[in-house]
Amino acid sequence: MTMPDGPPTDRAPASHGGPLPAAADVVVIGGGIAGVTAAWHAAATGHRTVLLEKGRVAGEQSSRNWGWIRQQGRDPAELPLMVEANRLWRELPARAEANLGLHRTGTAYLIRKPADRARYKAWMPHAEAHGLDTRLLTRAETEALIRGGAGRWDGALWTASDMRAEPWVAVPALARAAVRDGVTLRESCAVRALDIAGGKVAGVVTEAGRIAAPRVILAGGAWSGLFLRAHGVTLPQLSVRATVAATEPMAEIFDGQAADDRIAFRRRADGGYTLAASGDHDLFVGPDAVRHLRAFLPQLAADPLGTTFRPAAPRDWPDGWSTPRRWAPDRESPFERMRVLDPSPNPRRLKIIARRFADAFPELGPVRFRRAWAGLIDTMPDLLPVIDRVAGLPGLVVATGLSGHGFGIGPAVGRVAADLALDRAPGHDLAAFRLSRFAAGAPTPSPAHL
Ligand SMILES: Cc1cc2nc3c(=O)[nH]c(=O)nc-3n(C[C@H](O)[C@H](O)[C@H](O)COP(=O)(O)OP(=O)(O)OC[C@H]3O[C@@H](n4cnc5c(N)ncnc54)[C@H](O)[C@@H]3O)c2cc1C
Repeated sequence: MTMPDGPPTDRAPASHGGPLPAAADVVVIGGGIAGVTAAWHAAATGHRTVLLEKGRVAGEQSSRNWGWIRQQGRDPAELPLMVEANRLWRELPARAEANLGLHRTGTAYLIRKPADRARYKAWMPHAEAHGLDTRLLTRAETEALIRGGAGRWDGALWTASDMRAEPWVAVPALARAAVRDGVTLRESCAVRALDIAGGKVAGVVTEAGRIAAPRVILAGGAWSGLFLRAHGVTLPQLSVRATVAATEPMAEIFDGQAADDRIAFRRRADGGYTLAASGDHDLFVGPDAVRHLRAFLPQLAADPLGTTFRPAAPRDWPDGWSTPRRWAPDRESPFERMRVLDPSPNPRRLKIIARRFADAFPELGPVRFRRAWAGLIDTMPDLLPVIDRVAGLPGLVVATGLSGHGFGIGPAVGRVAADLALDRAPGHDLAAFRLSRFAAGAPTPSPAHL
């Protein structure tokens, strides 16, 4: 069977349907990597688990990403979880009995300027502290690794044990395995609101009826802030559009994933490259962007040219000006109005991507795209996820804000979220991922990853 070469469109037929059960032990909201793996873990530990997705499994970020499974360059707070995720990914093809396009091909951060080397060198102690195989490569070693781009890079930060997978294949395959192991999964089924009774979570209200459940996990990606706000909980989450292109098959210069400050590229299973312009994204301004701008100032200051501001978020996006912030649970919610958030790619950035890749590898010839797409990346001010119980709403766990690098760490986030919801020890110190770090009066957190 040939693998698909990119994310599903919103016209993809639903694969998971049927009536809703009246009750469950755990309900998981959101069929991305976090929600799928949380639901799978909850079911595998013997709990009646329902996974609800408003559109299609992995229709949003979890199919639109580059497919990098990267330990390298992470905030040290994430490394224990990421080391676990790396181990889980290696086990997943066998557990899912599926080809996820998983390869251990390594990540290279390519050095163009002396400042790059200094930053990468400063990260090495974190790699050593967590037993990673990360190394600083010389110019000659880098040229031996990446066959092309000669003379362009002065070295690289390199982690051979990093991996890649084909996200649009992997996450749906994990969802099928979760169903095989007992998860009840429903697509085209938006959760409109939590059902609250006696100050505690008692279940969810969906567009197809209620499900009674004492435990709910919200893994709603870019929609989590909107969902929580309707319940009086503030999550300072903003989402940015990132544009991606997939080339036609080209000669192999490198089998892994690499980036410098201009271009990010990785080899795909179909012989092409997935390309993006490093660090470039568009922020469509809506009410949340105005509300949370202050919390994001350190992130914007760290990379002042990376964000292009656009005046208005499109209609029905999570932070659209006309998107309702409150709705009655018996009426259509914003989640049903946008089944699959499928932003159009930025045409100007596509030209930049083609030009930068051709500049780096002239020997490969003309760069021809077979597909292009965009995804809305949900981010937190410090680029760390929120994985926490919600104070004031007992029974609710949030696992969201994976901030542009959640595909790789996703299986560990899902496992931890499920254990938190089930009152089991999460196995990690989750202090850095607390929701309360954004409480009024708390110091503004800053990003600490590379
Ligand atoms: C262009 C791009 C490149 C990236 N590259 C990488 C990479 O190389 N490596 C990496 O590790 N990460 C990468 N990421 C980030 C990664 O894709 C995300 O962090 C990760 O997929 C987030 O997973 P999630 O499950 O939290 O959210 P999502 O995948 O967005 O899933 C959330 C789901 O919840 C559903 N939902 C929301 N609200 C409701 C509701 N009320 N009811 C029912 N369903 C609901 C949505 O429809 C959606 O399907 C990239 C992201 C993008 C967009």
